[in-house]
Amino acid sequence: MPERRALVCGAGGFIGSHMVKRLKQEGYWVRGVDLKYPEFEPTIADDFEIADLRDANTWEKVLDPGMDEAYQFAADMGGAGYIFTGEHDAHVMHNSAMINLHMADYGVKKRTGKIFYSSSACMYPARNQTDPKSPNCHESSAYPAEPDSEYGWEKLFSERLYFAFQRNFGLEIRVARFHNIFGPHGTWNGGREKAPAALCRKVAEQPNGGEVEIWGDGEQTRSFLYIDECIEAVRRLMQSRSFRGPVNIGSEEMVTINEMARMIIQIAGKDLTIRHVPGPLGVRGRNSDNRLIEKELGWAPRQSLQVGLHRTYFWIEKQVQECLLPQSSH
Ligand code: NAD
Repeated sequence: MPERRALVCGAGGFIGSHMVKRLKQEGYWVRGVDLKYPEFEPTIADDFEIADLRDANTWEKVLDPGMDEAYQFAADMGGAGYIFTGEHDAHVMHNSAMINLHMADYGVKKRTGKIFYSSSACMYPARNQTDPKSPNCHESSAYPAEPDSEYGWEKLFSERLYFAFQRNFGLEIRVARFHNIFGPHGTWNGGREKAPAALCRKVAEQPNGGEVEIWGDGEQTRSFLYIDECIEAVRRLMQSRSFRGPVNIGSEEMVTINEMARMIIQIAGKDLTIRHVPGPLGVRGRNSDNRLIEKELGWAPRQSLQVGLHRTYFWIEKQVQECLLPQSSH
């Protein structure tokens, strides 16, 4: 069988860098593209281009004719501190939409075999996520649309863009809606980090007897999926012959942010108190609904949140400790 070739957009980021590793393990020839190299370990991609995917010239260069697969993870994104303040709305919408417009267009022009697009649970209507105990995030609940952020609106637009290219030009697309993916090698500081990484960092930074700050009352619910499980689900979706999505990729183990903070404190073996402070918040409740993915792809997460948090906490604790080391000892 000839070597399969894949392009990974956003390969310097969290999910993209993990996907490069998985594709290499499976024997693919892989080209990564990003504005930056992966931060935490060198890439093992066969080729890695530092380039701006908002620029059409980049696509002329990086997408070879007839490439088997393209994974589109590149986006201007971050956690609640980036998405929900409103300060980045114009950039978030413009930058990510530009990338997706080019991906769809060049996917047709360069006859790309299959394209994966990473949408987000943030595209679900806010009105179905007001009850922290029973949010509705079934795939069929997307319309009438009412995402709670411009980030969510861009994701919804781009989902529709890819499906329009599929209908009109036969572009082979696969679309998943990710629900909070976390794990080692994800952003853990700097303002774009998401809740699990932010809480792990706060716990790691505190000495015994200290305090951990949580935005809001901490009673908002979410579910979190460990990175390896996400990568497995994406690969299954890409391998599916006819099921294109959009489909949820997430965990159904719903917890409050307070519960997750207590789990991390316990993993760290520390004695810390939680303090609630005002901060940017998303919807009140959100959980993945995995009925469709189980039916179509036979996929469900295998491990508990506790196991993933354990791995993530100790990776972040190491990053925090390395940052505290004097420069001379690096
Ligand atoms: P990330 O921020 O770590 O990775 C995104 C990468 O895209 C970054 O490395 C960034 O430099 C790159 N990028 C941004 N603009 C670019 C440009 N103009 N040209 C080239 N590269 C550019 O994010 P992630 O967590 O790995 O997320 C990957 C995808 O999954 C994103 O589309 C995100 O919206 C989606 N998603 C992620 C989650 C999650 O919990 N991590 C949840 C829902 C959806």
